[in-house]
Amino acid sequence: MKAAVRLSEAAGKAILDGHGLRIPGGQVARSPEEASAITVSCGGTSVIKAMVPAGGRGKAGLVKLVNSPSEAFAAARDILGRSHAGCCVTELLVERQLAVAAEFYLSIVLDPWQEGLVMMFSPEGGVDIETVARSAPERVLRVPVHPERGLLPRSLPDLLERSGAPHGLATKLTQFARKLAALGAAEDLLLAEVNPLVLTVAGGLVAADCKMEVDDAAVYRHPEHRAEADASLGPDERQVRSLGGTLVSLESGDIGIICNGAGMGMAMLDMFRAAGLKAANFLDTGGGLTQDRAHGVCSVMFRNRGLRGALVNIWGGFTRLDEVARGIAQAFREEAPPYPLVVKLIGLNQGAAVALMSEIGVQTVQEVETEKAVALLASIVTGPKSGIEGLRASV
Ligand code: GDP
Ligand code: MN
Repeated sequence: MKAAVRLSEAAGKAILDGHGLRIPGGQVARSPEEASAITVSCGGTSVIKAMVPAGGRGKAGLVKLVNSPSEAFAAARDILGRSHAGCCVTELLVERQLAVAAEFYLSIVLDPWQEGLVMMFSPEGGVDIETVARSAPERVLRVPVHPERGLLPRSLPDLLERSGAPHGLATKLTQFARKLAALGAAEDLLLAEVNPLVLTVAGGLVAADCKMEVDDAAVYRHPEHRAEADASLGPDERQVRSLGGTLVSLESGDIGIICNGAGMGMAMLDMFRAAGLKAANFLDTGGGLTQDRAHGVCSVMFRNRGLRGALVNIWGGFTRLDEVARGIAQAFREEAPPYPLVVKLIGLNQGAAVALMSEIGVQTVQEVETEKAVALLASIVTGPKSGIEGLRASV
């Protein structure tokens, strides 16, 4: 499961710039005064853009072309504090205006089906690419990026022109795309999307917008993104990470999973589905669980009041389960989750652990098959199947 660290537009553009790709040039403003001053340094006109991690700002009136520092002041005052896609606008990107001749779409995306990066290009830039892909799929070009040699230029100009790139521009576009592909690999990106890539009246290609996502598993190689990676986690995810685990929240489910091992967690998702349950998350504790860490991760799970049930599944090995059980029990007493909990513990000191669970009134499963624990939780949460539901469950 890949988690993406979304970079701000300014951070993304700084990376483009660092790799020799043209950007409009500008600065971040946090007040109307700053927006006005930056506009002066841009030569008296500018584009004022809300810096929020979501697209569709143009349509929402959050990208404004202004023709004087005082217009910049007014536009900034209007945009700051507004909210877009659930984010409050606290920062603006104030940039030089471009004289736009045409707008294209260009991106490099990590495609798991291709097992590598893929370049996407469309002559229909500035609009939602999904819309173009639906209404005119022939206008979206997809070319795999060679893992070592990058984007191969041999047939690319031809392909670009066939997809609708203006005649004579294919060579320039190829150069831009090759650099973008090289940057995508070097920076461990899941996505680098330039929409629009602007062809200026003077004939240059400039990245007017930029959306970048870094693979969070590669952030250790790019410490400059550490702060963004942390900020992209919610408070629960951050706390679990500080305890050596990983919490992945899932949409629309209502049962919590705690397990020690991501493989087991993934298998449990399938078992839940088969049993008619939907997981709200899965929390992989990581190996070598101690009482303190068990206490910490269980507290995070148990204080989530929106759940309908939870399953703790610990495969012990040499992990001392009596200690783990003490951690679970402590969190259980403190947080008193208002929903049923089933605990499966297999391994060292299992007997003592199970005794401790029954002391606090938590049902345990001591069989090796996790399916048994899932079935027990399902029967507690949904009750015994009867009538039409029972019939459906049996087919
Ligand atoms: P998004 O709507 O959130 O993707 O924001 P964009 O940064 O892509 O901006 C939206 C639109 O504003 C672009 O598609 C352009 O049409 C327009 N735009 C952005 N910068 C400039 C500029 O410097 N000059 C002109 N003329 N238009 C711009
Ligand atoms: Mn855009």
